[in-house]
Parts: sequence; structure tokens; C-alpha cells
Amino acid sequence: MTLYYYCSSQSCKKTNSIKVKSNNRYDLKCEIGIEINERCKHCGNHTKRHINRLHAEPNNFIIIAGVIAAILFSVLFWDLGFLTTLSGTVPIAIWMSENKKASNFNKVLIRD
Ligand SMILES: [Zn+2]
Repeated sequence: MTLYYYCSSQSCKKTNSIKVKSNNRYDLKCEIGIEINERCKHCGNHTKRHINRLHAEPNNFIIIAGVIAAILFSVLFWDLGFLTTLSGTVPIAIWMSENKKASNFNKVLIRD
């Protein structure tokens, strides 16, 4: 999952992303600790953030990959009409599960 935070530099405030393995903040605390200390990719400023202030967004790359896979699948198995319908639901399912993962992450805050 990809998490986002805003650069603490007043002149920058750009969004930065960090890749993590955890799907919730409790796991994240074990993985990276109670706060992040990341260098901004845009201005190089170091930002310290409590992990409660990170937010997750659905991984668009996975969703796009799902759509592309579905299109390829539909083209390859064009003759089998029912499979085309089936493959159309796959990207939707992926999109929904990515959204759910992100909103579950954002909902749960840790207490110190
Ligand atoms: Zn910055």
C-alpha cells in the first residue's frame, strides 16, 4: 500500500508517498515506528510526522493493471462471450478492494 504525507516546508507542501507493507497503523507502528522521518522528494526538507497523520489512497497502478489485464483477456477470449462479461467485473473488484483497504487504514488511528 502507498501512504501519503505533506511536506512540512512552508514553501513546498507537496505530497510525498511512502511504500509500506502494513495494511493498518498498528502494523505500521511495528514496521516503521511511531513517526516517519522522511526527506521530501521535491525540496529535500526533512518531515517528521506521527503515523496517524499519514493517509492511504487506493493504488491506481494496481487498478490500471487490472483494467489492462481485463482488456487483454477480453481480446484473447473474444469468442467466448461470457468470459468477457466476467473479466469486466475483475477491475471493479480490484478497485473496490483497493478502496476498502485505503479507507480501512484511514479510519483506524492508533493511541499512544
Ligand atoms: Zn518539500
